[in-house]
Amino acid sequence: MNNINEKVAHWVRPEIRGIAAYHVPDSADLIKLDAMENPYTWPEALVEEWLELLREQPLNRYPDPTAKKLQQRLREAMSVPDNMEIMLGNGSDEIIQIIAMALQGPKRTIMAPDPSFVMYKMIATFCGMDFVGVPLNEDFSLNHADMIQAIEETNPAVIFLAYPNNPTGNLFDDEVLEHILQTSDGLVVIDEAYHAFAGKSYMQRLGEYDNLLVMRTVSKLGLAGLRLGLLAGPQEWLCEFDKVRLPYNINVLTQLSADFSLKHSDVFDEQTRTICDERTRLMQALVKLPDIHVYPSAANFILLRLEQANADEVFAGLKEQGVLIKNLNGAGGPLVNCLRVTVGKPEENDAFMTALQMVLR
Ligand SMILES: *Cc1c(COP(=O)(O)O)cnc(C)c1O
Repeated sequence: MNNINEKVAHWVRPEIRGIAAYHVPDSADLIKLDAMENPYTWPEALVEEWLELLREQPLNRYPDPTAKKLQQRLREAMSVPDNMEIMLGNGSDEIIQIIAMALQGPKRTIMAPDPSFVMYKMIATFCGMDFVGVPLNEDFSLNHADMIQAIEETNPAVIFLAYPNNPTGNLFDDEVLEHILQTSDGLVVIDEAYHAFAGKSYMQRLGEYDNLLVMRTVSKLGLAGLRLGLLAGPQEWLCEFDKVRLPYNINVLTQLSADFSLKHSDVFDEQTRTICDERTRLMQALVKLPDIHVYPSAANFILLRLEQANADEVFAGLKEQGVLIKNLNGAGGPLVNCLRVTVGKPEENDAFMTALQMVLR
């Protein structure tokens, strides 16, 4: 082989060559309502205090490999039961990857509802696992019978359930989740990335089922830039996953900054309240528009389906007006003509509504 393309084609696995890279659009100069980020930064006094801490932190040494101090802070901030173990990841994306690497093997399957968070399927592909997506009902609730049947037929190694679900925004029924937990022999990971906005959690139910794990992240809470996620559950599972985790996956600056900021959780609590109030206001404005179906949301984003207009055109029109949201039309199936908007600051949400009305006119 003397040509680079031939070598790439020979050596890189076909399933990797066959997928598209996770696309992050350029958002320069746009109102950014595409990625479920918290729109608020910190008060100036807090920034100063944080910078003082950073100044004292040497970077010549490796970080604490288990991030003990931060673990303790997260246990408190996220009310992890005392008898449960925790493991930290470089974002919850890395935790999904660690779980997949530990469970992967011939005929090992990852299962998730469809549509759901795209990384479950991508990471299954990276790790050479099969992926089974079980279609949600038309209202995006879990299809109880189909879910149970798929579990019985496939015996998945792990089921990921985003709670609330992304990109649909809803929480799933407890009754169905409990039946899934009872039926599955493999792991069931409740992914609570949007916990701050949801008011419901499985964290206090850890231990009720020996296959239940709960995953959290600080990304949607207001610290997306740090890349920090957390897995909580029985020690028997977590000590195995911890062997797969790279020793210094949580860097010094993340450990310090997350510990510092979670000490001031009142700041996030207030920001979260404002975002939830804005979600209600945005929802009320959206349902007044004709020919749009607005889905209920327990997260910091809202899913819309355009019943007359074309989502590609509306997305492009909004961008032209300086507002970046997420176009889900390309995902096809139940997401045809769907758009997802992250709840921003009041003035950003107003700008979005103004632009949307202009584009739809
Ligand atoms: C955003 C998101 C994540 C990823 O979180 P990170 O901690 O930023 O990697 C995980 N799960 C769901 C459902 C998400 O929407």
